[in-house]
Parts: sequence; structure tokens; C-alpha cells
Amino acid sequence: MPSDGTPVYSGRCYCGAVRLHVTGPPQSVAYCHCSDCRRWTGAPVGAFVAVAPAQLRVSPPLGAPFSAVPGVDRWRCDRCGSPIAARFDYLPDQIYLPIGVMDQADALPPALHCHSASQLSWLHLTDGLPRNDGSGRDMLNDPMP
Ligand SMILES: [Zn+2]
Ligand SMILES: [Zn+2]
Repeated sequence: MPSDGTPVYSGRCYCGAVRLHVTGPPQSVAYCHCSDCRRWTGAPVGAFVAVAPAQLRVSPPLGAPFSAVPGVDRWRCDRCGSPIAARFDYLPDQIYLPIGVMDQADALPPALHCHSASQLSWLHLTDGLPRNDGSGRDMLNDPMP
């Protein structure tokens, strides 16, 4: 944390070729149970840290995204294939970082579940957090305090 008290978060891909640097608190942290995020992350549920583009520095800078679905851009490490970042047209001015690549993941607890109707039947998360059967865009577009 710099002397002015601004929190700083860091992250990296599996091989370390891509480094992430986030300045300031994230806009939101959320689970996403949708099948796209599940497949992209390879995990039973995705969890993401949302930051403003101005908060994020990526080295080397993000190249061309991969887009399998209109309105959704996803980036991964060209070397090891780790998911690195995603962007959704319906969530403007936000970049979503998979929480597992963050060095401080333990200090970034999710605050809600998105697409919870798609949650795997054997996955039990009794955390009492708000659940949104859809994208949760209303809550995600209204950054948490
Ligand atoms: Zn890598
Ligand atoms: Zn998703």
C-alpha cells in the first residue's frame, strides 16, 4: 500500500509472463455461475474482480481479445493460456479479472452471485450473499461502497 493509503493489488498468469497491477479498491467482486465463465476459467464457478480500465496496468499490455460471444471480449496469456481479463458490453468501463490470478485473492471476498440459476447442483456455497439469477448487471453497474 503506498503512503497515501491507496490499496494496490497485483496478479499474474500461471507462467508469470503477464503481470497485473491494480491501483485502488475494486469496483466489485462477484461470482459468476454462467456456463461461459465456467468453461473459460475451467473452474466450477468463476469469480471476478471488476476494475475500471484506468485502475489496471497489464504488462505486457493486453493484445487482441478473443471473442466467442458478441459483446464479450476475453484475454488470456499467449504463453500459458491462463485467463487474464474479460470485458462485457453490458458492463461498460469495467474489466473483469479472474480472482484466481490475483496475489491478494484471499483479501478480495465476493459480494454477490451472478447467474446463480446456472450454479452446478453439487456446488454448495451457503454464504448468504445476494444471488442474481441473471447477469447481476444492475448491481455490478452500481459499484459497491
Ligand atoms: Zn502465462
Ligand atoms: Zn459469467
